[in-house]
Amino acid sequence: MAVTGPEIERLIALLAKLPGLGPRSARRAVLQLIKKKETLLMPLAAAMADAADKARICSTCGNVDTQDPCAICVDAARDPHVLCVVEDVGDLWALERAGAHKGRYHVLGGVLSALDGVGPDDLNIGKLVERLSTDGVREVVLAMNATVDGQTTAHYITDRISGLSIAVSRLAHGVPVGGELDYLDDGTLAAAMKSRRPF
Ligand SMILES: [Zn+2]
Repeated sequence: MAVTGPEIERLIALLAKLPGLGPRSARRAVLQLIKKKETLLMPLAAAMADAADKARICSTCGNVDTQDPCAICVDAARDPHVLCVVEDVGDLWALERAGAHKGRYHVLGGVLSALDGVGPDDLNIGKLVERLSTDGVREVVLAMNATVDGQTTAHYITDRISGLSIAVSRLAHGVPVGGELDYLDDGTLAAAMKSRRPF
C-alpha cells in the first residue's frame, strides 16, 4: 500500500530491486535520502545521471568503465601474456582491490548452469577463445567461484582451449588467510589437503 506520493513510491520500488535491499531497507534508505536532500539525494541523483551517461561495457574484456576499451585493457604496464577469466565484473574488481593480478582479464558474464538454462552461447566464451587465439596470451588463470557451476565452467573452458598451446591454471582452493582449521567446512578442508604443496 502506498503511504506517500507516487514519485517517492517509484523510487522505493526501484531501489528495492537492488541486491541486498528489500522493500523495507529501500523505504528506510529513501527516507534518509529525502531528509538529507541537499547533501545526499541531489548529489546522488547527479552521480547516477552521470554514471548512466558514461558507463560502458569494454568490448574487449567485458569490464565496466567509462571508456571502451577499458583502462585495464589499454594499460601498457600490464602483462598481456596472462589472462584472468572471471565470472562477473564484481570478481574482477575484487581481484583488483587485492592487487592480486598484474595481467589482463576476461569477464564471462555468468557461469554455465543446466538448472538456469545457461549454455556456452549465453556467455562471453566465443570472444575469449578468439582473444586466446590471436592476442599472444601464454597463460590463462581460471578464477571462477568455487561452486559446482563455476568449476563446470572452468572444465568446459579448459576443454574448449585444449588445442591452443596455452598454460591453464586455476585459483587454489583451501584454508583462507587467518583461517582456523577447526572452523572450516569439510569441503574446504578436503580441498586444502588435496591442493597441499611443498613447504
Ligand atoms: Zn577491457
